Amino acid sequence: MSAQILDSMRRYGHKKVVICNDMASGLRAIIAIHSTHLGPATGGLRMWPYSSEGEAMLDALRLARGMTYKYAAAGVDLGGGKAVIIGDPKREKSEALLRAFGRFVDQLGGEYITGEDVGTTLADMEIIFSETNHIVTLPTHCGGAGDIAPATALGCVAATKACAKRVWGRDELKGRRIGLQGLGAVGYNALRMLVEQGAEVIVADIDPQKVSAAVAEFGVAAVDPNDIYRQDVDIFAPYALGAVINDETIPQLRAKIVAGSANNILGEERHGNELERRGVVYAVDYVANSGGTIFDTDRLRKGGFQPDRAWANVRKIYDRIEEVFRLADRDRIPYYAAADRLAEERIASLKAVRLLAPATLPR
Ligand code: NAD
Repeated sequence: MSAQILDSMRRYGHKKVVICNDMASGLRAIIAIHSTHLGPATGGLRMWPYSSEGEAMLDALRLARGMTYKYAAAGVDLGGGKAVIIGDPKREKSEALLRAFGRFVDQLGGEYITGEDVGTTLADMEIIFSETNHIVTLPTHCGGAGDIAPATALGCVAATKACAKRVWGRDELKGRRIGLQGLGAVGYNALRMLVEQGAEVIVADIDPQKVSAAVAEFGVAAVDPNDIYRQDVDIFAPYALGAVINDETIPQLRAKIVAGSANNILGEERHGNELERRGVVYAVDYVANSGGTIFDTDRLRKGGFQPDRAWANVRKIYDRIEEVFRLADRDRIPYYAAADRLAEERIASLKAVRLLAPATLPR
């Protein structure tokens, strides 16, 4: 396996992998550092019952690289990293295990900064915080930004407006019909903002209680989750699952825009090409949904967490999406490829400057 890992690291430019074993707590974890060119490698801690070490390793490598692109495209001066703990978060998580992980993070001296992800919670972060300062997602009582879903939602709405400007020449959402899939932490916040801006929203969620709450609070229409794709709307807004743009759903879509918070919206890259062929404007997922990350990581910047600065930077997602459009037009490439290029160009242009600065943050 090790030869394959090094091959993969070389192919995708990963810097370092740390394999962690703690006998006392049973911790088995992998910390993958993709890049520290823009700053310390930062990315959440995932706990998942991986079926093999190889699967866990590949996930850590893939997710770490994704974070490099996400921060670079979002204009955040951080590199990409990710950690995974092999285990079932419901059965195998313990204070000892989390603290052991925290010590491994601490030993990296700030080269990697951890945070919340699938299978971990803010409460887990507070436990890890007792072993290391190199942690980003924290509750407000520990100096963190707390709930980031509203910031993610605001960024997605900004991205939606930038798409509206591209399609209709005006970014107002008043009177636009929007099909919103998923009324969770981000989707519900986005719904509130969209309704406030005068959009006509049709919602769908597999959880009937969330649908009832949305209908009662905002007077929106609701449809069966299977019918959301085929609604006669201007904008399709995926706030639930990944891979919702695929061979089955594209023919059903009547919207001119796809913009939401879901990660990995495109089933495959070719589905992005197909959207473009049909003249649909797509807000690239990892740029559109970077608001929470921008908000969260503000505490790592000079002066610590400053909400006004954090919100202002979240709003800049509008400009980032426009930059993606400019690059796509300039190089005649699909939006998803333009977002990657935006990230790569930012890293390339700042690499030389950053080499003058240490890869860890001043403490
Ligand atoms: P969440 O779990 O709070 O909400 C997801 C919602 O989608 C739930 O209400 C669920 O019932 C609903 N859902 C699931 N399957 C569905 C289906 N088939 N049809 C309709 N609804 C369905 O999650 P969240 O934090 O709101 O995140 C939503 C998406 O945004 C996820 O893809 C997540 O990865 C992504 N994202 C979230 C954040 C954040 O700040 N929370 C940041 C970046 C990206």
